[in-house]
Amino acid sequence: MDEVDVGNYVAEQMLAASLAEVARRAKKDAQPFTGKCLYCGDPVADFVRFCSGECSDDYTWLAESRKRRGLG
Ligand SMILES: [Zn+2]
Repeated sequence: MDEVDVGNYVAEQMLAASLAEVARRAKKDAQPFTGKCLYCGDPVADFVRFCSGECSDDYTWLAESRKRRGLG
């Protein structure tokens, strides 16, 4: 292994680690599918989280404003 190979190897390892971190965070933040709109509670298909784009937007806005106020 020459120096270039070592550099590439390190870069690949760092990339892999950051991708794993992104995947881990996405998993943690992901909301479960409950069969109900997460915002208004209307029944929805099992593979969606909101009954409409408006609910999705409102829910996201609420979550963001909670985060900003430090309420998690
Ligand atoms: Zn809804």
